[in-house]
Amino acid sequence: MDADLAIVGAGPAGMAAAVQARQLGLSVVLLDEQPRAGGQIYRNIERPALRDRAILGPDYYAGAQLAEAFRDSGCRHISGATVWQITPEGQLFYSSEGASASLNCRHVLIASGAQERPMPIPGWTLPGVMTAGAAQILLKNPGLAAQDAVFAGSGPLLYLIVWQYLQAGIRVKAVLDTMPAGNYRSALRQLGGALRGRHYLIKGLKLFREIKRAGIPFIRGVTELEALGDSGSGVSQVRYRAKGRQALIDTRQLFLHQGVVPNVNLAMASGCEHRWNDRQLCWTPKLDPWGQSSQSHISIAGDGSGIGGAVAAALRGRLAVQQIACLLGRQTAAQRDASSRQWRRQLQRELAFRPFLDTLYRPTEPFRKPVREEVMVCRCEEVTLGDIRAAAAQGCMGPNQLKSFTRCGMGPCQGRQCGLTVSELMAELNQQPVEDSGYYRLRAPVKPLNLGELATLADPAATIDQETANEH
Ligand SMILES: Cc1cc2nc3c(=O)[nH]c(=O)nc-3n(C[C@H](O)[C@H](O)[C@H](O)COP(=O)(O)OP(=O)(O)OC[C@H]3O[C@@H](n4cnc5c(N)ncnc54)[C@H](O)[C@@H]3O)c2cc1C
Repeated sequence: MDADLAIVGAGPAGMAAAVQARQLGLSVVLLDEQPRAGGQIYRNIERPALRDRAILGPDYYAGAQLAEAFRDSGCRHISGATVWQITPEGQLFYSSEGASASLNCRHVLIASGAQERPMPIPGWTLPGVMTAGAAQILLKNPGLAAQDAVFAGSGPLLYLIVWQYLQAGIRVKAVLDTMPAGNYRSALRQLGGALRGRHYLIKGLKLFREIKRAGIPFIRGVTELEALGDSGSGVSQVRYRAKGRQALIDTRQLFLHQGVVPNVNLAMASGCEHRWNDRQLCWTPKLDPWGQSSQSHISIAGDGSGIGGAVAAALRGRLAVQQIACLLGRQTAAQRDASSRQWRRQLQRELAFRPFLDTLYRPTEPFRKPVREEVMVCRCEEVTLGDIRAAAAQGCMGPNQLKSFTRCGMGPCQGRQCGLTVSELMAELNQQPVEDSGYYRLRAPVKPLNLGELATLADPAATIDQETANEH
């Protein structure tokens, strides 16, 4: 055995889990494809690219303490390592700097986090159109930003990134807000939960006030969006419709965002059962209250288990480890329950706010399912809405069959960019619930792997050298 526990992902869930597991005496190896620990929210936290702490704000720097505890925990951290398979027997395969290796651990915790929900508007494949999260990644590392960008979509992360841009002194051309006014009324029904998370509400209102004070156009009630331009020179304008009126804005950069969803590929390809979550409009793994998946040797924590935010992610990581330590005979169920009580209460508090957020920022159908035939759904294989409709008309019953009809979802991203859109589209076209329509059947390797990387698996010496070279 290489370790008691392998953790995939060095975000708040993975780091908190590693610290906890070490405290309980487990040997731990943590792998992450990023060069440094931090995950999405705390990306690059140990070597921040920006000197001015006001730009990314206190929530970002709050991660420094956890990252330090993780570094000092005695956990073996293999950075720059992409995990591409976990077998039913619990063997984990990863590749790093051109070579692959494997690990045998008694239990695996997947803490692979979230990704942004696709927003397949006309023109979303043009150069210059990116996700707002990608814009934030450039800001966190290496400290780059685009002047005069248009931000479009909705959700707390979108407004946070606009605010971070403004803090950095970067001009923002406009914010095109796609949240329908009707969502306010539905969200009011969740007011009880919203009040339990009032510190988040207060933070959100402060962001809005500061964005408003900056005087940038903030256009509400946007119902249509289109990026205009050509593939050679990229986006040049954004066309939008709000309150019945159509307008154009000149820009070279359009940043889209409509919330985050669990990054499910590794868990799905490892055989963990998932179900459709209609409130969060995404697939989430079937888990017990400790994050144990349908596979006995795999647990899942953090946003990969359902979107809950960074604080909830860390709590879920700790709770999962309490149960893993129990399964591995390091503590009794009574000890597990006693140490977990306080975290469980905190987690309930954190999650009480989610139904309000999920309802308020629920993206509308035209931004989840394209309306125009020529809109690209699968960017990798260039499959359009028209192609998908044609396949359904020929009898294609679901996302998995759609692969055979069109190659949709079979490109390098393995369906990350189109999977959710395709699930909802196929369900609509076949008049089925999304749960029945299903998702792509995912297979290892979950990320692109070249033959050279695969070949190193047959050479144990190369594998060991590579592993040693990447340990930090
Ligand atoms: C682009 C983006 C930016 C965000 N920015 C913020 C923000 O500024 N503030 C905020 O409050 N929330 C932000 N969020 C939401 C935030 O990610 C989560 O609430 C929180 O970070 C979840 O923590 P986590 O530990 O579950 O996962 P993450 O923090 O997402 O960490 C997951 C880690 O797993 C690694 N990983 C995934 N798959 C593999 C694999 N196959 N092999 C190896 N490693 C893998 C990733 O590299 C990543 O480091 C952001 C989300 C996204 C998608």
